[in-house]
Parts: sequence; structure tokens; C-alpha cells
Amino acid sequence: MTSNKPKIFYNSFAPQEIYDLFYMAAGDEFDIITLEADDDEERCEKIADCDAAVVAGHKLKDSTINAATHLRVVQHQGVGWHDTTDWKTLKSRQIRLAINLAGSTVSVAEHTVLLILAASKHTVYADNQLREGRWLVNDLRMQSRELSQMSVGLLGMGRIGSLVAIRLANFGCRVSYCDPYVTKDDTFTQQYQVSKVSFDELVTQNDVLSLHLPLMASTKNIISAEVIGKMKQGAIFINAARGGLVDEIALDKALRDGHLTSAGLDVFEYEPVNADNPLLTNQKAILSPHIAAGTKDATEQKIAAVIANLKQYFDSDLLDNEIDLQAHQD
Ligand code: NAD
Repeated sequence: MTSNKPKIFYNSFAPQEIYDLFYMAAGDEFDIITLEADDDEERCEKIADCDAAVVAGHKLKDSTINAATHLRVVQHQGVGWHDTTDWKTLKSRQIRLAINLAGSTVSVAEHTVLLILAASKHTVYADNQLREGRWLVNDLRMQSRELSQMSVGLLGMGRIGSLVAIRLANFGCRVSYCDPYVTKDDTFTQQYQVSKVSFDELVTQNDVLSLHLPLMASTKNIISAEVIGKMKQGAIFINAARGGLVDEIALDKALRDGHLTSAGLDVFEYEPVNADNPLLTNQKAILSPHIAAGTKDATEQKIAAVIANLKQYFDSDLLDNEIDLQAHQD
């Protein structure tokens, strides 16, 4: 028996618990179509007669969009859409795209602070050494730092960058930011003691540089070998935005030759990370598998908001947090 309910395709292969959250949120209103394997052929088959698609970490590729002859709307589970959708194909087919503001901001801001603190005190390295019988009670003293004595530069001052600044205010560190499109108002600037600086000042003057901007054609490799070379001697580099923003080979080299003290990375140019990525064997890098927004708290909020927005769309044609693809170029 065929159903008249809108069909929603979930583009990521995920554990059953995640699928169950979708089934529960959708109730009787939608048919949720999920994957049995991380397989592009299955994606093309299953999306073919779907009205909507939900995208998370796995990119919604041209080949999948082209197989989706009924597709009218794509709802992103998170915010980072530029590199996780073949948006030019959506644009040319006039398929609407919405992002989801629920869930990501707090989780990524918290993860950023976690990476800054862990990188400042080399906690993962100390943990690994301890388990191998080396008790580094004194060895790391002259390399470990306190946030209260450091300056932190945020590249990108949108939702996540702003919340990182708020979180950092209580640590007593100096915070500056660079964002060509955002200037925080006087109230925020004074309350959280942040200052706006140029890109060059941000890179050259801070003990910690943390990225909070999207990956677009114009921002790819924005942290190039040359930029890394201009960072302060002994600085810390943090990236919970996108791997393609930074030259990973140059970053690895700067850590190994001692120009940078440590790095905290949640994202990589290629994900899952390539086995030959030199950062995998670099003890000065703290790595996590793109889990900054991957909490139970965030996931529950995200899925509820995704389904609520799609209900609104199918009821009234209204879509919250829609991206104006027709106006978008980068
Ligand atoms: P946002 O759109 O609110 O903020 C991004 C900011 O970057 C904007 O203020 C924009 O003006 C700024 N920007 C654009 N180009 C810039 C440039 N050249 N230099 C400096 N700033 C620039 O987005 P957000 O919600 O804060 O998310 C930021 C990014 O974090 C996303 O694009 C995504 O890539 C990443 N992210 C990662 C995870 C994760 O799990 N690791 C989760 C969510 C988001």
C-alpha cells in the first residue's frame, strides 16, 4: 500500500538510535527513509521518490540530487551547508535549502573551549605518556599555559564565535576577533571585553587562534603556510569549523618544528581523515572526529527542529532559516 505522506530521505548512514529519533519526531506525518549502509547507490535509489532530504555530515552530492526527481526541499541538520551540499545543483533546480540553528552553537562553543584548554595543558599527550609509564610531573611545566594569561583570536564572529567569546570572558583572557561582515555592538564589546582587529593583527598577535567561519571558495586555505608562519612563536591553533580552511601539511610542519606549541582539531580536509595524514602521528595535535556538535543534547534538539521546520513547510510553504540560494555566489 502506498502512502500519501511526504517522504523525507535522511542522507547520513547513522545508528538506529538516531533513526528512532526521526521516526518519533515524524509520527504519522512523514515517511522517514533511512539507509542500511553508507552507500551512494542506495542513496540514489531511496531518494528517487522523496519530497524532502535531510543532510547532516555526509555531503548531499550532485549524483544524489540528480536521482531525486521529486525533491523540493533540503533541510540541513546543522549550519555548515556550503561544503556539505552541492548547492549549485540545488540552486539550478530551484530546490529550497534551510539550515538548522538548534543544537550546534553551544556544543561547538563548548568543544572549542575544551580544545583550547586541552591544547594549553597538553592533557592528551600527558595521558598517553602516563599510561605508558612516564609520569611527566615536571616535563611539561614550561610548555603548559593558563588561559587567564593568554590572548585568544577568533576568526569569524557569528553564532559560534560569539558564544566562544562569551564562554572565554570568564577565563580572564584577552579576546579579539576578525570578521569582515560582523561588528559587535558596544554592549557586547564591553560586557565580554572583546575587540575587533584586522586579519593580520589577529594572526600575528594572539597566543591562540581559533576558527569559526564557513568553508567557501573565498575561505579555502585561509590559514595558509604563509599565515601560519606569521603566527606568534609558541602559539596554539584551534579548528572546530572546517578542515579545508587550513593547510594541514603546513600546520603539521609548524607543530613539528616547534613554531607552534599545539593544536586542537575537530575537522579535517578529508573526512574520515586519510590514513596518511601526518597529523595522525603528531603528538602535539589533539584530534577529534568532527564531534563538536555531536552530543545527545544537540542531536535531540536538532532532529526535533528539523522535523518541525519540515512540518511547517509542508503545511504552509514557510521555511525558517532558509538560505537564499538564488542570491548566493561563493
Ligand atoms: P555563522 O554563519 O553564524 O558565522 C560564521 C561567521 O563567519 C559569520 O559571522 C561570517 O561573517 C564570518 N566570515 C565569513 N567569511 C569570513 C572571513 N573571510 N573572515 C572572517 N570571518 C568570516 O556560522 P556559525 O553557526 O558560527 O558556524 C561557523 C562554522 O562552524 C560553520 O560554517 C561550520 O563550518 C562550522 N561548524 C562546525 C561544527 C562541528 O561539528 N565541528 C558544527 C557546526 C558548525
